[in-house]
Amino acid sequence: MPGVLVVGSLNVDLTVAAPRIPAPGETVLGGELQVSPGGKGANQALAAARAGASVSLVGAVGQDAFAAQALHLLQAAGVNLEGVRAVPGATGVALITVASGGENAITVASGANAGLEAAHLPSDLRPYSHLLLQQELPPAVTLSAAQRARTAGLRVLLNAAPSRDTAPELLAATHHLIVNEHELSALAGGEGEVGVQARALLARGPEAVTVTLGARGSVTVTAGATHVLPAHPVAVTDTTGAGDTFCGVLAARLQSGDPLPHALHWAGVAAALACTRRGAQAAMPLWPEVEAAGA
Ligand code: ATP
Repeated sequence: MPGVLVVGSLNVDLTVAAPRIPAPGETVLGGELQVSPGGKGANQALAAARAGASVSLVGAVGQDAFAAQALHLLQAAGVNLEGVRAVPGATGVALITVASGGENAITVASGANAGLEAAHLPSDLRPYSHLLLQQELPPAVTLSAAQRARTAGLRVLLNAAPSRDTAPELLAATHHLIVNEHELSALAGGEGEVGVQARALLARGPEAVTVTLGARGSVTVTAGATHVLPAHPVAVTDTTGAGDTFCGVLAARLQSGDPLPHALHWAGVAAALACTRRGAQAAMPLWPEVEAAGA
């Protein structure tokens, strides 16, 4: 069966818990450094693979000690990494300070991600039925991937995160757009309730728009229907990576042939399970756990 192609970022997250986010010019003593693999592309590829899909990732790491860190859980999950280039220079790094109140401050050094070019995309897209994209790569690469995939007959899913200028051409090449409320407002102008704003985006290209609403679940609109999905109830430990889990599992289930409402259900269950454990990639569930929780 044709698989899921993810074209996206790979990072290493360097996280320190601190009493507060340092003010400009201030130094704050924090706790132990946590080094964990991240990047939205890598996270979503891992979530899809753990959900049972055949997944290939296209991206770039540097030639440094962080590269192995960025890749190890993807390797363990069987993600095809032939399309991940090791380029001179540094692997992408996110410097994350988490304050005791839960708020965080993140600085990203894009590193190798910034050097990815459209020429690095696979020329043969026949092994894939679905393409999953985010907005952490150079925009020209993301747009080229979307347009080429659409022309080749793949279904294109775009998680328009993090929020940045999304080219009209990228939206036009997208079949299924996934955003959180903040990204929805940035894209749709912030006027009206969520369903109304999401519906307005349908006119710009996507056949489906899903808005994730954190602990309130998700809403998905298509031309003919609205799917309101309450969150799967769990005891929440850490919501980091919930959005990436949702996107990866949604792509995996659509690729396996699930109808949209079923795929949304499984994405919500998997994302909720990811909230029950600490971390992003480490918290992502395997399919048997998702199936048992959501049956
Ligand atoms: P993040 O950037 O933290 O990964 P996000 O803003 O992209 O998150 P959210 O809308 O917060 O995405 O969460 C994505 C999905 O995860 C939600 O649609 C929901 O299905 C699930 N989820 C998030 N928070 C909870 C929660 N507290 N309980 C159950 N499910 C949750």
